[in-house]
Amino acid sequence: MGGQRFADVAIVGGGVMGASIAAHLVERKAGRVVVFEREDLLGTGSTAKAAGGVRLQFTTAANVALSRYSIEEIRNFEDRTGVDADFVQYGYLFLLNSEADLERFTETAKVQRALGAPVEVITPEEAERILPGIRTDDLVGATFCGEDGVATPAALVSGYGSLARRGGAELRRGCEVTAVTVLPGGGFSLLAGGERWECDWLVNAAGPWAAQVGDLLGVDVPVSPVRRQFFTTEPMSWVREDMPLTIDWGTGAYMHLHSGGMLIGDSDPNEPPGFSQTPDLDHLAQVWENAAWRLPRVEEASMKAAHAGLYEVSPDHNAILGPVPEVPRFVLANGFSGHGMQHAPAVGRAISEVIVDGESRTLDISAFSVARFAGGAVAPEENVI
Ligand SMILES: Cc1cc2nc3c(=O)[nH]c(=O)nc-3n(C[C@H](O)[C@H](O)[C@H](O)COP(=O)(O)OP(=O)(O)OC[C@H]3O[C@@H](n4cnc5c(N)ncnc54)[C@H](O)[C@@H]3O)c2cc1C
Repeated sequence: MGGQRFADVAIVGGGVMGASIAAHLVERKAGRVVVFEREDLLGTGSTAKAAGGVRLQFTTAANVALSRYSIEEIRNFEDRTGVDADFVQYGYLFLLNSEADLERFTETAKVQRALGAPVEVITPEEAERILPGIRTDDLVGATFCGEDGVATPAALVSGYGSLARRGGAELRRGCEVTAVTVLPGGGFSLLAGGERWECDWLVNAAGPWAAQVGDLLGVDVPVSPVRRQFFTTEPMSWVREDMPLTIDWGTGAYMHLHSGGMLIGDSDPNEPPGFSQTPDLDHLAQVWENAAWRLPRVEEASMKAAHAGLYEVSPDHNAILGPVPEVPRFVLANGFSGHGMQHAPAVGRAISEVIVDGESRTLDISAFSVARFAGGAVAPEENVI
């Protein structure tokens, strides 16, 4: 091919999604799989900033299904990949201070339970037994799911990356995809790291930069980057090892055990879209105050490090998965809106089936099609943290 390189499947982006999709593709004998990552290491984008939360407590059935599949795979991650995902299942505890929220969470819990998620609606007193020391006087209730938990994002990238590599995938780092042309037969010509490549399938796994990769083909991928922040604290002897990931729904502050201390963050609803990844210490001070109001001993914490990363936000806070109707071999794995790390196993499986089998058979991903935006009717995911 006169110096031209060929891939059956080219994946743009080597975060947790690109790595998982590559691993699932090689397992399913998809031919030559190449991941293009512009940074020198895998997993330095949004994935590097993920707080590690994994939960069944979503409001849409399609998201609960992605979680069910993913939790099973994360549980067995070490057997499958050789890397321990550090997965602990101490639950997610949503603390609710308004009747309207309690009503909505109670309705949603019915849906979640019907899908096999053991979500309980509990009283403030029961919540305090799960997390002693919380202030309960303004709470009206809570929900708890003991199968939810926390895993280590870098471990998922490392496990999937090595599984992909062992299966023959090429993981090209320091290699930015800067141009794409659709070829007459439906494949693609790419410029990656200054080299010309051809591929049959092209997967957009570019996280917060997904819209820019779409622009290379003139395809609108409705994903916006939005800064999200958290801080970690120095170790604190009183933090219980089995502390659930706890969300103070009224303020949006969330917290969980992290290296003997805590990881505390929120999703500021007033944050405008943009690529800034600089932590805003004033905002984090407010988050700290909110967390300490709910769990007063948090006031004793010392901040260890402040972090900011990017959510890749879609208009309805749901992922955008599958082929683009007008360019059918351009496949999207985008728009995870803050819950992509935990859904990477299911998405890897689904996208590999789209490419190898022509459709996702194990999981129904029709609700996540990009075509939904053309119809105007979208059922948003409401439990976005
Ligand atoms: C503060 C914060 C907390 C979060 N907490 C959680 C959580 O608790 N649970 C959870 O499930 N999720 C969480 N998330 C979301 C999660 O991090 C993302 O949904 C997930 O990591 C997305 O993975 P990705 O591989 O799609 O994107 P990324 O990890 O961003 O990977 C995309 C990659 O594409 C590369 N790239 C982009 N353009 C190009 C190009 N043209 N050529 C080559 N390479 C390119 C980038 O360099 C990047 O490495 C959190 C995110 C943030 C910011």
